[in-house]
Amino acid sequence: MSPQKLATRNDYKVLVDKYDTFLFDCDGVIWHGSKAIPNIQSTLSMLRSRGKRLIFVTNNSATSRSDYVTKFAKLGIQAKTEEIFSSAYATAVYLSEVVQFPPNKTAYVIGGSGIRKELQEVGIATMGQDDKAPVDLSTLAEIEPNSDVGAVVFGIDFEINYRKLSNAHINLMYNPDCLFIATNDDRTLPGGKHVYPGTGSMLSSLIHSTQRTPLVMGKPNKPMLDCVMQKYHLDPARTCMVGDRLDTDILFGIRGGLSTLCVLTGVADEASILDPSAPQVTYYMDSLGDLSELEMT
Ligand code: PLP
Ligand code: CA
Repeated sequence: MSPQKLATRNDYKVLVDKYDTFLFDCDGVIWHGSKAIPNIQSTLSMLRSRGKRLIFVTNNSATSRSDYVTKFAKLGIQAKTEEIFSSAYATAVYLSEVVQFPPNKTAYVIGGSGIRKELQEVGIATMGQDDKAPVDLSTLAEIEPNSDVGAVVFGIDFEINYRKLSNAHINLMYNPDCLFIATNDDRTLPGGKHVYPGTGSMLSSLIHSTQRTPLVMGKPNKPMLDCVMQKYHLDPARTCMVGDRLDTDILFGIRGGLSTLCVLTGVADEASILDPSAPQVTYYMDSLGDLSELEMT
């Protein structure tokens, strides 16, 4: 079936009545950076008042779930920690519950405080945060593999440098048991003004140097899908995944057997949605904020 455009109040009502649970991508759907999408607060409260379950699923690993709650509140949106599922949290769940990461091992993290907080919350020690760029080649000789390192975890790191890459590289090269996990591999990161290199673009350098393949947690990949399905016991027939990106959000929904809704407030435009070779969305609409029209009914 080709994508159906939702444009009238009746279209919105049919959508809302059809599903019990909505999974929302965040950036490009709920907000742009630090600015809420117009009418998003009233859309979300309308959905809550109709008894819908809301879950926020983001590939952004820079922020912990507790800091997300603060961000939501600043934008006038009530959200609980349990309703937020980030790629950093998925990484922590995966390492603690699936891998049962040994307590005597440490994760070498290229990433920010969001990943570190989530890992520390499940009892996984982290290192790498204080590694500064080397002054010259001679200082690289200090870098040695560390047998305490049980995993290299890679997420967005605005202070990435050559020492961090070298530490991660050496541990992955000289310790074949060292796990290689990436929070997500988004090629680009949409900013306020331009599009910038995403986590996946930086991750490529480590894949290239080590010739190792990371397990990527975030949308559209299976680890995040399994974690979300398991945690929330989703009924695919009554769940709709809402996103702005075809190669992450929409593919994630399709792989989970969910209906999908693509909004035009982020990365995808109408032409890419209608491209038959792209992941096929169930519905699309201009903005999620338009559902607030139903508040008046
Ligand atoms: N990764 C980073 C570092 C980001 O800043 C963002 C968006 O702000 C994303 C990924 C994509 O996030 P989402 O999955 O909510 O669109
Ligand atoms: Ca997005």
